[in-house]
Amino acid sequence: MYTVIDEIMNCIKCNVEIPPKRLEILPGTKTCVNCSTESAKRGVPVMRGTGDHTWVDLEVLTQEQYEEYEELKTPPSKRTKFDSSTDKDNLKGPFNIIDPED
Ligand SMILES: [Zn+2]
Repeated sequence: MYTVIDEIMNCIKCNVEIPPKRLEILPGTKTCVNCSTESAKRGVPVMRGTGDHTWVDLEVLTQEQYEEYEELKTPPSKRTKFDSSTDKDNLKGPFNIIDPED
């Protein structure tokens, strides 16, 4: 025997089962998170103000903006995307040292 739960909804776009928690928060939703026109949002804490007057604000970013933010936050040496001119033998790191005598 099994229990029939009448609240199970499948996404109208990809037919994936919509998580009950999503239905709970968004009753009447017909799409899963991936198919929703509202893309996932990320909250990023940001420091605002200057000097003694600073506060932490929460910036809401789209998934795309968040990825850009993550990339900016990551030191160049740890980024997954490397400049094609950089190879493992380049001990100068990500910066080009320009010799003025040259
Ligand atoms: Zn879907």
